[in-house]
Amino acid sequence: MRILVVEDEPTLRAQLVQAIAAAGHTVEQAADGREAQYLGEVEDFDAVVLDLGLPLLDGLSALRHWRAAERGMPVLILTARSSWQEKVQGMDAGADDYLAKPFHMEELLARLRALLRRGSEHASSVWHCGAIVLDTRSARVLVDGQPLVLTSHEFKLLQLLMQRKGEVLSRTELSEHIYPEGSDRDSNTIEVFVARLRKKLPEGSIETVRGLGYRLVDAGA
Ligand code: CA
Repeated sequence: MRILVVEDEPTLRAQLVQAIAAAGHTVEQAADGREAQYLGEVEDFDAVVLDLGLPLLDGLSALRHWRAAERGMPVLILTARSSWQEKVQGMDAGADDYLAKPFHMEELLARLRALLRRGSEHASSVWHCGAIVLDTRSARVLVDGQPLVLTSHEFKLLQLLMQRKGEVLSRTELSEHIYPEGSDRDSNTIEVFVARLRKKLPEGSIETVRGLGYRLVDAGA
């Protein structure tokens, strides 16, 4: 697995790099927030260990930037020991887990293993649901091997449904995923997009769960 270590304190950074590499991973490192933000945006990592107090750009800003750019890799933040505010802010900004300094390297490695296990469920860039195949990198969809032409809204909708297949997603969740933050979201239009998408997919793929929302299922199962 490929891990990014972001820590400005040289001794701790070296210890992290060494321990994570010894666990069998490929490790890249960054010593400031700006470099971290850049690396996390342009390169693919299976997980990131992110210190929050960093020069040039703080860790929370880098994390928010990644999430806004739809970079979904698991992120473990390193927080100051007594600062519960940092933990809350970090989780709100999209961190997957946190560890307060000082920590035992064994605990960090255990948490990293847990994050990588969770991440591996979606580590593949190609997702399947019955006859539907969605390639997240090329943004293409096949049904029974035939390419499906989707609008960008339909694609985003299908992407979220596939990412969380089997789960019921509310109209609000779907509209938050489709429309950028701050735009005029109208959850009623979701029904229209779902209806259009439904016509393009194998019959029975999108179930309506009355009063709750929609769920993607394997229609052939
Ligand atoms: Ca620091």
